[in-house]
Amino acid sequence: MALQKPAVAYWLDNSLYLNITNQCSNNCWFCFRNYKQGVGGFNLKHTQEPNFAEVVAELEKTLPNRRWSEVVFCGFGEPTARLDLLLDVAKWIKAHYPTIPIRLDTNGHGNVLNKGRNVAQELHAAGVSRVSVSLNGHNEETYRDNCRPNFNGAYTAILDFVLAAKAAGLEVEVSAVRMPEVDIQKVKAVADGLGVPFRIRDYIPCFW
Ligand code: SF4
Repeated sequence: MALQKPAVAYWLDNSLYLNITNQCSNNCWFCFRNYKQGVGGFNLKHTQEPNFAEVVAELEKTLPNRRWSEVVFCGFGEPTARLDLLLDVAKWIKAHYPTIPIRLDTNGHGNVLNKGRNVAQELHAAGVSRVSVSLNGHNEETYRDNCRPNFNGAYTAILDFVLAAKAAGLEVEVSAVRMPEVDIQKVKAVADGLGVPFRIRDYIPCFW
C-alpha cells in the first residue's frame, strides 16, 4: 500500500495536533518513531520539514472543519526545536481563532535548544496557554537511561523549564509514560515538589 503524504496537521478525537518537526534532542528507547510511521492512520515522518506557509495552509484547511477543543503542538519530534515556527504559528492561530486553547507537549529542553531565550515567556506571549512536560525518569540517571538526551544536565534543565513555565503564567503539568522503567510514584513526587499537576500517560497513541 502506498504511504500517505506526511501530515503536518492530524487529529485524535477533538484535538487538532501539529507535527512541525521530526527533530528531537532525546532518543527515547520507547519513542514511537522507532517503531511506527505515525499514529491514528497519519504518517508523521516528514520527508521535508514544513515551513510557516505550509503549516498555515494545513490550519486553514482543518480548523474550520470542526469545533476543536484545542490545538496541540505534538508530533514525531520536539516542537521547541523549531521555536520560531512554533511561536509564529501560535500567533497566527490566536489572531484568526482567538478562542481555541493552544497546548504544547514538550520534552522540556526548550531553553537548551534555544540558548539565551526565555522560552516559557515567549510561549505565553505568543498565545500558548498550556504546557505538558514529559518526564520519564525521577532523576538525572533514570531520565538518561530512558530518554538518552544528546546533552548533559537534561533533567535539571527540565525542572528549571517547569518552574519557568509556572512563573510565566502557563498552565503546566508533568507527565510520564506508564511502563516498568518509570517509577511513577517517584516522578509524581518530583511534580509535587515543583507544585504542578501530574498525569500518567498510557503507552499508546497519543503519545508520551
Ligand atoms: S522526547 Fe518524544 S519525540 Fe523525542 S525521542 Fe522522546 S518520545 Fe520521541
